[in-house]
Amino acid sequence: MVFQTQPKIFISRGEIAKAVNRLACEINKDYQDKQPLLICVLKGSFMFTADLIRQLDLPLELDFVRLSSYGAARESSGKVRVVQGVKTPIKGRDVLVIEDIVDTGITISFLLDYLKKKQPASLKLCTLTDKPSRRRVPVPIDYRGFTVPNKFIVGYGLDLNQRFRNLPDIYTLED
Ligand code: 5GP
Ligand code: MG
Repeated sequence: MVFQTQPKIFISRGEIAKAVNRLACEINKDYQDKQPLLICVLKGSFMFTADLIRQLDLPLELDFVRLSSYGAARESSGKVRVVQGVKTPIKGRDVLVIEDIVDTGITISFLLDYLKKKQPASLKLCTLTDKPSRRRVPVPIDYRGFTVPNKFIVGYGLDLNQRFRNLPDIYTLED
């Protein structure tokens, strides 16, 4: 791993594992007797989703959605596109969206609107991290791993220009 500035572990793999465990307990409880459809928001949420679903004792289904809003920038362009839509029928399903980070909220609120139009029985959001200080659109978060300050984070699926997704801990590139 090569960082240009000195990297700092911001959230360790141990802390992540504990949060994943806690969230899985809540989801197992809330969705008992249900067959939820989990939707992993690519690419950033792949590692979180993989860890989370291994702790879910539910007859769940998994699908993926890919959105684009950022390009190579760190800031949201404010324009969101569905690059790869959900293939599984949504109507009447208990849908749980799995996100890596809710920052301005623009991306996820676009996705939630897109999914709502498909008439799910229920629609909830689970995010590993939440950066509320940057919010521009209100977002209802049902399951939250960590609240993070206004710093750019990478690792555990989160990238900077497509790099650092493979790091097992979460780092911040700023002081
Ligand atoms: P929003 O539309 O909420 O501003 O942006 C959400 C998306 O922006 C996330 O799914 C993620 O791809 C990216 N993003 C926002 N903040 C960060 C951050 O601190 N680190 C990384 N790696 N991506 C971020
Ligand atoms: Mg994301």
